[in-house]
Amino acid sequence: MATKVAEEWLNICGGCEVSILDIGEPLLDLLPALEFVHMPVLMDHKYHGQTGEGDSHKVEIPAADVGIISGGIRNEKEKLVAQEMRAKCKILISLGSCACFGGIPAMANMWTLDELYEKVYRDSKSTEKSPNPNKDLPPLTDRVYALDEVVKVDVHIPGCPPSPDMIKEALLCLLNGKPFVLPEKSVCDECPTKREKKAAGGQISRPLQGLAFKQNAAWEETRCFMEQGQLCLGPVTKSGCAGQTTEQGEVKVPRCIKGYMPCRGCFGPVKKGSNPLVDMMGALSSIGLNPQQVADRRAMLNRYVGGHGLLKPLPAKPAPIKK
Ligand code: SF4
Ligand code: SF4
Ligand code: SF4
Repeated sequence: MATKVAEEWLNICGGCEVSILDIGEPLLDLLPALEFVHMPVLMDHKYHGQTGEGDSHKVEIPAADVGIISGGIRNEKEKLVAQEMRAKCKILISLGSCACFGGIPAMANMWTLDELYEKVYRDSKSTEKSPNPNKDLPPLTDRVYALDEVVKVDVHIPGCPPSPDMIKEALLCLLNGKPFVLPEKSVCDECPTKREKKAAGGQISRPLQGLAFKQNAAWEETRCFMEQGQLCLGPVTKSGCAGQTTEQGEVKVPRCIKGYMPCRGCFGPVKKGSNPLVDMMGALSSIGLNPQQVADRRAMLNRYVGGHGLLKPLPAKPAPIKK
């Protein structure tokens, strides 16, 4: 009997769904074993009955063996959908960095809701001033939440977006009753660049400025990007984006490194509960770079992980003392 799958997208850009479709031909091999019972990106399945005449306050999603959710939670409707998916799916997967850690949208957690409304509806130069919208829209939650802050999650597939190979691997594990767990290793552990444990210069450069590499040269000839002064988050980011060693024995290279780009941290912290911002300051200092040179450190070093309380509004500055 086919495994029933329900898929939902919450606070998203849609890239994770494109990644599912990008599995390509192997997806065709998987399809006979899967029956998609709910997937808004592909089928018009209503939350309140097919005629829309059901109870408009109750979200209804069909029962499934596996539920896949991309996106974190930004409003009350998304919270209800996540709770209904949890209630109806035996196994729940959080797909992508937004679902796993809050992702890029959780950078908004650096401001209060009032500050966000003020900026978007009144303070922005390109916007005509208007009141906060309050009609026919679900209220925003107080901040952006990662999925596992709201419902229990069984499997995490990080990445912005996760690679099609990784999604396929996770689905195959589930179909074969095996666990899908990424090891507690860092991107650096899988990176083949040459390291000398000290920075080549004393400065952190602007992104890609002065990055030296020869395309297609042996990796031993390419100096570690962080040692070249680039902000590469490999030391504090979970490995896995390189995939496995190929059947031909060729060792795969982390995705961004392979494209001569520093790691941006999309796989989240190496260990659950660690703080990439703090750990990255230590990694930079350990090779002689000054973390104070990183512009907008909070946003740059916790870029994908603003759920789980890692990005918050700064406390208000005390009023100056009157003399
Ligand atoms: S993880 Fe990345 S690709 Fe997926 S929804 Fe979030 S922003 Fe889009
Ligand atoms: S810091 Fe970046 S370039 Fe250097 S070893 Fe780690 S992942 Fe590779
Ligand atoms: S190298 Fe870093 S940013 Fe790039 S895909 Fe891998 S974990 Fe994500």
